[in-house]
This record gives sequence, C-alpha cells and structure tokens, in this order.
Amino acid sequence: MTLRINEIFYSIQGESLYAGLPCIFIRLTGCNLRCVYCDTRYAYHEGMDMTMSEILGQVESYPTEALVEITGGEPLFQVETPDLVKHLLDQDRTVLMETNGSLNISRIDNRCIRIMDVKCPSSLMHLHNDPDNLQRIKPHDQIKFVIETQADYAYAMNILKRLPPDFPISSVLFSPAFGSLSPDLLAKWILQDGLGVRLHLQLHKLIWPNTERGV
Ligand code: SF4
Repeated sequence: MTLRINEIFYSIQGESLYAGLPCIFIRLTGCNLRCVYCDTRYAYHEGMDMTMSEILGQVESYPTEALVEITGGEPLFQVETPDLVKHLLDQDRTVLMETNGSLNISRIDNRCIRIMDVKCPSSLMHLHNDPDNLQRIKPHDQIKFVIETQADYAYAMNILKRLPPDFPISSVLFSPAFGSLSPDLLAKWILQDGLGVRLHLQLHKLIWPNTERGV
C-alpha cells in the first residue's frame, strides 16, 4: 500500500489553535478542488509514491513529541489516508488533518483533530462544501473560513448558525485571504458584530514571507 506524497517536513505550525508549535507536516498529492487563491498548486500533481513504513520512518526522524499534520492538497482525496492517520494515532501522537470540507470527514478516526475549511464564495468552490460535515464535526475539531470579501464574511456568519450547539465558537477561525483582505478590516467586522470567533493569521507567512514550500 502506498500514498502519493508531495513533501514531508518539520516546521512551525502556522495555522489553527496549535499555531506556533513545532510540527511535522505530511503533504499529500492531489486535490479535488481548485480554489482561486490556492497557495499549494504544486501539490496538485507533484509527488512520489511512498509505502506506509517509509512515511512513518521519515516521521520518526523528527522529534517524537512534535505534532503531526496531514495536509495537501486534500488528504481525503487518497483512500489510504485514514490508515496513515490511524497508524500515527496508535503511536500516541497528536495528529491534525487539514481538509477542504468537500469530502466526508467521518472517514477519519475521531481521535484526529480535523481542521475543516468551509469554502466561501470568493474561492469559487463553495458549492462543493459537504453540508453534512457540519453535523459530523466534533467539539475538539476546528473550522476555518478564508475570507476575502464582505460577502464571504456574511456567508460565514450564516454557516455559524448551522453549527452543532456543543461546537465551541472559539474554535471557529476567520482567516483573511492573504494579500487580499487586510487583517485589521476583518478584525473590525468581527468586533463590530460581537462575534466570538478567532481572528486567524497564517503565522508561517509572517515568519517566512517569500518561502512557498517546506514551511
Ligand atoms: S482545497 Fe486547498 S489545496 Fe485544494 S485548491 Fe483549495 S486551497 Fe488549494
């Protein structure tokens, strides 16, 4: 059994509630969407086939206490991804998975922390959101909106009304589209509406502004 891997690297987690912590990233090749602002187009096709033991061997070359994040591309695009997640969880690692919200997230072991994007209209991919994922999400997961316009912001506000009642609002991340919406404008909207969501900046882009890969 193999997975197609774009890159495996050790860096600082730039997103989510875990931002700032050391993290091993496993970036899988392939994505079923084509967001207009995508910053990982190189992961659509580039990659090499690796066996499970080759992947786990490379992960083990990094500090054992580090987080592990499965990302892409879209991790659920490959059928073997749930097995990879389970292997990592069975090693007692903290495993995060970044997913675009268009595919069934319940395929992944519930011990994994899923960071689910809900695509907004500016991505031109919002019609691909799987609405059932809003019922599959667990309180320990996180939900992210990349917001480029006021219409995206209004769209995200509407989705908030459909979250399960036990889902913590502080685990909802509003992220300004990098280079398109200024963080201070998004902060202003959040404050004026009294939302309890979290303003979310991509830390890795602040630390390494001109680096596309491996961060
Ligand atoms: S889901 Fe992610 S990887 Fe896929 S096109 Fe959108 S931004 Fe790019």
